[in-house]
Amino acid sequence: MKLVRYGPAGQEKPGLIDADGKLRDLTGQVPDIAGDTLSQKGLTALKGIDPSSLSVVEGTPRFGPCVGGISKIICIGLNYSDHAAETGAQPPSEPIIFTKQINALCGPNDDVELPRGSEALDWEVELAVIIGSRTKYVSESEAMDYVAGFAVMNDVSERNFQTKRQGQWTKGKSHDTFGPLGPWLVTKDEVADVHDLDMWLDVNGERRQTGTTSTMIFNVPHLVSYLSQFMTLMPGDVITTGTPPGVGMGMKPPQYLKVGDVMTLGIAGLGEQKQTVVAA
Ligand code: ZN
Repeated sequence: MKLVRYGPAGQEKPGLIDADGKLRDLTGQVPDIAGDTLSQKGLTALKGIDPSSLSVVEGTPRFGPCVGGISKIICIGLNYSDHAAETGAQPPSEPIIFTKQINALCGPNDDVELPRGSEALDWEVELAVIIGSRTKYVSESEAMDYVAGFAVMNDVSERNFQTKRQGQWTKGKSHDTFGPLGPWLVTKDEVADVHDLDMWLDVNGERRQTGTTSTMIFNVPHLVSYLSQFMTLMPGDVITTGTPPGVGMGMKPPQYLKVGDVMTLGIAGLGEQKQTVVAA
């Protein structure tokens, strides 16, 4: 299933995209694409609904973040061997983790803000893993049982805030609109091999990132299991799993985003996003 949240920011309603690409309303079926709806039981119940029995949503409403009720966003740094090489960093011996604050979440096609004082706004197409149920001390072999599905995330980053302002990366990752998520949550049963998905990102129509989830250093079961040793993951929590090569920071000389620039990005089977950069 492709599950969505649509409507004005803060008032999103649950929906699904049917086999013909039509948006259908799930209001009255589930309160939100969040919480118990993301459990195996909740998703199985949703799958039992005949999409043709749901009303079609007319027009082209905005999509919000494809999951609600998110309690945390955990990001994995330098998790692609080809991206680690691009930054000149040694591949990490254990997953590098940092957080993106919840205020950063936005819809997949919402404008992205250039923060005040920003001179190094950058892009990162990433595979986001959406947790389906409470996850604590799970093994790698059982980790996927706790995953609801996958989505596209742009891990928008301000490199100077991230690396030149002291302390952790969180500062450069958490401005409003630095977390476009969606368009859809694709349930894991629809993704044949999550470690073999092409991914790309263009700026103003020029290809910047070309990658594949096959070059991840730490795969999805490893990341879910690893994180669950340190913190309990809750339904809706997002693990965004790192970016392939082609970020602005890695260009020679580095190239960063300015007001009016347009990012388009996608992952095979998980949909596409488009954001325009605006002044904060
Ligand atoms: Zn990232």
